[in-house]
Amino acid sequence: MNTNLQNAINRAGKIKMTVKYLGGRTYLVITPEFHKYVVRFETIEAKRYGRCNCKAGVANMACYHLAKSAFVDSAIQKMRSH
Ligand SMILES: [Zn+2]
Repeated sequence: MNTNLQNAINRAGKIKMTVKYLGGRTYLVITPEFHKYVVRFETIEAKRYGRCNCKAGVANMACYHLAKSAFVDSAIQKMRSH
């Protein structure tokens, strides 16, 4: 995981957003303003890559949605590996 994403995760901890698991490694993020974004993760050579369809995500920036979903993704991956 890169530092940008880690920083975004730290900041996202303070923001309330709903993350819904859509299956596979796809998540639907609903912001307090009821904006909806789809985030997808994949792991390539043990590194996690995420993509969000918001403006920041499309510009390849680590956005809050990506960060928030990463929490959920980590939890799900952990559950699967046990
Ligand atoms: Zn986003």
